[in-house]
Amino acid sequence: MKYATFSLPPDVVPRLGAVRGDRMIDTSMLALGDWRPPGSLLELIQRGPEAWKRTSELVERAAPDTGHPIANVRWHAPIPRPVKNVFCLGRNYVAHAEEAARARGQEVKIPTIPVIFTKAPTSVTGPFDDIPVDRSVTQQVDWEVELGAVIGKSARNISKADALHHVFGYTVINDLSARDLQQQHMQWFKGKSLDGFCPMGPIVVTADEFGDPQSKQLQLRVNGVVKQDASTAKMIFPVDVIIEWLSKGLTLEAGDIIATGTPEGVGMGRTPQEFLGDGDVLETEVEGIGTLRNRVKDVR
Ligand code: MG
Repeated sequence: MKYATFSLPPDVVPRLGAVRGDRMIDTSMLALGDWRPPGSLLELIQRGPEAWKRTSELVERAAPDTGHPIANVRWHAPIPRPVKNVFCLGRNYVAHAEEAARARGQEVKIPTIPVIFTKAPTSVTGPFDDIPVDRSVTQQVDWEVELGAVIGKSARNISKADALHHVFGYTVINDLSARDLQQQHMQWFKGKSLDGFCPMGPIVVTADEFGDPQSKQLQLRVNGVVKQDASTAKMIFPVDVIIEWLSKGLTLEAGDIIATGTPEGVGMGRTPQEFLGDGDVLETEVEGIGTLRNRVKDVR
């Protein structure tokens, strides 16, 4: 299944949709007896496997012309307001760990345990929304294409062997980063958490349909020029190991989101360094999911 969150202008209220071909099926219009799917993707995930199964059956049964042409809907992040911060992996690809250390004049250290930080929930924005950049706050906005994993089953101390069974689905994330703030604050949270710095979507592909998360190509383009192009096979810590480590003594809950790290090719790692300017267009793509398209917009 391919789930999305959409609205139909002028109605601004986001609702749960299932994408089938070029149609967005409004799941609130489907019913099985007196049972209806939940109104949001977060609620669907939280309801658990029985609700997932019923909803997918309803979508599969829907007539071919059900739904709205996808060109007519407004797309929102699949989970527009996560219940907690987005978990993120730092330096989870060797070549990126190397370029990041070089850019900061540091010794290259390849992690032996996952490096984990977070982004504020208010940083989440839609797959085609503008990225607001306040130039009084940052001059060094950088890109990071990442595979996002959305947790489906709550638990802690999840074993590696069981970890992928806890994933509801996968999405595309651009972990936008204010590099000057990361440096100034000597910590990543602030520079990663500006409003609109976590575009996500366009859809969540359920784990059964997505298949092996370690065999997907990631690509990021700026104004059509390829900047990052790598396989998730190159992750230092694959998704199952990330979940095993992250869930040690920490409950991962249904609807939690994990950004699994970015490969090489970010702007700060280039010679000369490149940062995003007003009007630049980012295309952030993960094979099997889709492409985010966001324009940088200076707001003052
Ligand atoms: Mg990142």
